[in-house]
Amino acid sequence: MKLMVVGGAGYIGSHTVRQLLGAGHEVVVFDNLSSGHAQALPAGVPLVQADLLDPAAVKTALETHQPDAVVHFAALIEVGESMRAPARYYRNNVVGSLNLLQAIVETRKIPLVFSSTAAVYGTTDAVPIPEDAPLHPESVYGETKLMTERMIHAFHVAHGLPYVILRYFNVCGAAPDGTIGEDHPNKTHLIELACLTALGQREKMMIFGDDYPTPDGTCIRDYIHVLDLADAHVLAVEALAGGKQDAGTYNVGLGHGFSVLQVLDAVDEVTGRPLNREIAPRRPGDPPRLVADAHRIVEELGFAPRFTDLKEIVQTAWNWHRTHPHGFEE
Ligand code: UDP
Repeated sequence: MKLMVVGGAGYIGSHTVRQLLGAGHEVVVFDNLSSGHAQALPAGVPLVQADLLDPAAVKTALETHQPDAVVHFAALIEVGESMRAPARYYRNNVVGSLNLLQAIVETRKIPLVFSSTAAVYGTTDAVPIPEDAPLHPESVYGETKLMTERMIHAFHVAHGLPYVILRYFNVCGAAPDGTIGEDHPNKTHLIELACLTALGQREKMMIFGDDYPTPDGTCIRDYIHVLDLADAHVLAVEALAGGKQDAGTYNVGLGHGFSVLQVLDAVDEVTGRPLNREIAPRRPGDPPRLVADAHRIVEELGFAPRFTDLKEIVQTAWNWHRTHPHGFEE
């Protein structure tokens, strides 16, 4: 199959490009490189450097490359920034996705796989969280993802567009060979920050709250390895192309979680450099426990994550950060 991967030069996109190629598919990447890295793409993968906010460029790319399916990752992803600059987020994430949808149905109802997020659920008492839990995102970022989910569904109803929506939990890790990995302009994710702290780029790790109603008092999250997540996209694309799936929304997580302290202990063990730690106040908006009910994707798409051991997950992140302490810059 031939896939167009929109946002394919980003963290999750570039790992998915690899897995798609490994599964024998052909890939073309569409990316504006606003936060992605051309160096993250394997040699020989064509890159259309263009923006979803340019409808003509989107249409031309689809007509030129005639993909069998589109995988859409392109989005601004920072929760805090989305609250300070909502217009930028609605324009980029919602209008950009609308342009893509419009071009897809004008070309020929090309099946779509869309990156969504557990942030669409907002704070919830559900443990684990099933896909039919109430949706009330608490950030503009989460709101833009939910709006896009709803647009996709409307295009399915109106135009018969086949789709799979994947709602990611806490994505982490890197390709085990250490050649590609996480490199965002602003670092906020726990495992990435802990690795950079182990490298001496930061003085200490702040633990945002140790008085949560969890066994060790710190927040629990469902950490899903980026290569397992990439494989979920391969399964989704193949299910759509094989006609097995017409429309579906799936959580992607392990279905069990780890606490902040468990993650930091794993980083200490893997790096052999115990982190300075400090208990800090709770971070606003952090629910105590976010864990996926991941049964649906296992049962319907045959999802079988390989990275279930926390130390192994952390080891892959460490392989990347240790060899690329400043990301793709060097
Ligand atoms: N966290 C922390 N210290 C940090 C960064 C994160 O204690 O320096 C905690 C955060 O409060 C949350 C968990 O680690 O409970 C995961 O946070 P992350 O930002 O990686 O992902 P999120 O769950 O917010 O998407």
